[in-house]
Amino acid sequence: FDQREGLIWFNGELVAWQEAKIHVLTHALHYASCVFEGERAYGGEIFKLTEHSERLVNSARLLDYEIPYSVEEIDAACRQALAAQGLSDAYVRPVAWRGSEMMGVSAQHNRINLAIAVWDWPSYFDPEQRLKGIRLDMAEWRRPDPRTAPSKSKAAGLYMICTLSKHAAERKGYADALMLDWRGQVAESTGANVFFVKGDVLHTPTPDCFLDGITRRTVIDLARARGLEVVERAIMPDEMEGFEQCFICGTAAEVTPVSEIGPYSFAPGEITQMLMEDYDTVVRPDRRGQLARSAAAAE
Ligand code: PMP
Repeated sequence: FDQREGLIWFNGELVAWQEAKIHVLTHALHYASCVFEGERAYGGEIFKLTEHSERLVNSARLLDYEIPYSVEEIDAACRQALAAQGLSDAYVRPVAWRGSEMMGVSAQHNRINLAIAVWDWPSYFDPEQRLKGIRLDMAEWRRPDPRTAPSKSKAAGLYMICTLSKHAAERKGYADALMLDWRGQVAESTGANVFFVKGDVLHTPTPDCFLDGITRRTVIDLARARGLEVVERAIMPDEMEGFEQCFICGTAAEVTPVSEIGPYSFAPGEITQMLMEDYDTVVRPDRRGQLARSAAAAE
């Protein structure tokens, strides 16, 4: 990946992709003092950019540091990085971390760095599998108690659990894994939030120890705009038996139907299909108006 062509926004400058390097004694590499974002641009516009920039700043604060750029400056830097890559549909990855000035658990005065890379990332899952619904393994690792880790931070350190779970699932032939939380309640997949459908009601876990995804909140708004009820609550794994449809959602994954989670199976259905389409519409600046018009027509 580091041998690609292009430009990366790095501490205020655009540098050649292959030259965007850091030292091996970077604090973040040893002690996980790193936070990041995952954004998507559609038709040249980064969807909900400011919400992502705000989450990045807050993620850093939860790790006890301040990114030396304002939300407005981060927004502008993301747009600059996107334009520099010359892409209009792309994935945008801002990352902030403590530098290499001091080595040790404590690194109060190390420089806080910010970089933003942009690349083409059409589909998070195999497009064919995605239409049929992806298969999820039940992960052995659990999301930690919020008293154990800053679970509201999109912190690189928390992704150790995700990579372990996703690798284990892939080795067994699954596309991804569903993680429970430390109490044994359904939490999320390794890079997306989860929803279940029963009748006309959507059920999704209360995000009290994992990210309340920007896509998750978008999907809740879209579902309510369609007159569907959305219930946020604690969901126990054995309840999955009674749900008819399931999907995961996240910036990279968008809305992706799920056909299987361990022993439970689901049929990709109408509500999932409708929300996939509504999401595709709302993210595109040239089509967004269509949703508002169909909502107005329904009233
Ligand atoms: N949970 C995890 C672990 C994630 O990595 C992501 C992707 N950022 C999400 C949930 C969904 O968040 P969003 O919709 O803001 O991308």
